[in-house]
Amino acid sequence: MTAVRPSRVEVDLGAIRDNVRRLGEVSGTDVCAVVKADGYGHGAVPVARAALAGGATWLAVALVEEARALRAAGVDAPLLLLSEPPVDAAGELVDLDLTPTAYTSAFLAAVDAAAAARGVTAAVHLKADTGMGRVGAVEGDWGSVLRAGRDAAHLRVEGLSTHLARADEPDRPETAAQLVAFDRYLAAASSLGIDAPWIHAANTAATLLHPAARHTLVRPGIGIYGLSPDLAVDAADHGLRGALSLVSEVSFVKQVPADTPLSYGHRFRAPADGWVATVPLGYADGVPRRLTGRGQALLGGSRRPIAGTITMDQLLLWCGDDRPQVGDEVVLLGRQGDDHLRVEEWAAHLGTITYEPPTQLTTRLPRRHLG
Ligand SMILES: *Cc1c(COP(=O)(O)O)cnc(C)c1O
Repeated sequence: MTAVRPSRVEVDLGAIRDNVRRLGEVSGTDVCAVVKADGYGHGAVPVARAALAGGATWLAVALVEEARALRAAGVDAPLLLLSEPPVDAAGELVDLDLTPTAYTSAFLAAVDAAAAARGVTAAVHLKADTGMGRVGAVEGDWGSVLRAGRDAAHLRVEGLSTHLARADEPDRPETAAQLVAFDRYLAAASSLGIDAPWIHAANTAATLLHPAARHTLVRPGIGIYGLSPDLAVDAADHGLRGALSLVSEVSFVKQVPADTPLSYGHRFRAPADGWVATVPLGYADGVPRRLTGRGQALLGGSRRPIAGTITMDQLLLWCGDDRPQVGDEVVLLGRQGDDHLRVEEWAAHLGTITYEPPTQLTTRLPRRHLG
């Protein structure tokens, strides 16, 4: 579809390549780049290719649907599914050559049967819940699930994994406790004769902060996009740089007298005589309406406050004495001149994490991949 509106997401694939390389250097292990949720809103297929160019040996997704899209685009790298899908997806995941994360005997039986029917052996990674409390076998089930994986004729246990609940908080004892529990899981597997090459526990925060979590493979998501896993852990301090920009152009300008009310609810009044720019971006694009009264944009090399309520399709910028022109570049996220509006700022304004804003940018915004 040819874009008429100038609003767009720009993704710097060079940054993603460099971030993956950097995370591999930091960890000293192989990297499994997490590209679920359309590459955290950045576009899964180009991100996957950039991650592989940056040295990732694995990719990971949350859904069979996401894996299907990568395979359809010709991405043939090892592809990890992070949770068990419904058992009736077992056939498709064998056909797509996915490596599922498994933690129930029922799911293992379904994959084993699907592999047997196709005359192949399927690789699986077995996951322990060591304290995340989301998915993974609980400790009382470790023995039975490990044995089910080991004994299935058409399965090969190639990986053992867990996931950390509080890795983004540097000094929590819970993380150390989870890693001790994971060591118990690895010992249990070993005592059952399971010798898996891929041992993994580390998301981005653990990759950066918890060396003991790195094992043979790390699973960073947010860090490959150059974003901070927590506002207390700045990605920039770890040599990572943001890849995403949200860019548009001024669509309409006007001069208003002091005290002119603007936008729904008249929540903003012009503080003086001055210029107002209209920008064709709104909450239907994923610009959070809650940035009303807090957000800023870069226009003409300066920060301009968002004036009044963010509407579905448009927002307003207060420009004071500076007269903008229709067609001037507007940056909601990313660089203009020497300044930089970061996803971290939005997250702070919104009381959320950096993961949320990019995954909420909607498909109405075309993604342009650069570099
Ligand atoms: C999403 C996810 C990751 C990536 O986490 P980040 O915090 O984005 O690095 C890793 N492992 C699992 C199981 C996940 O669900």
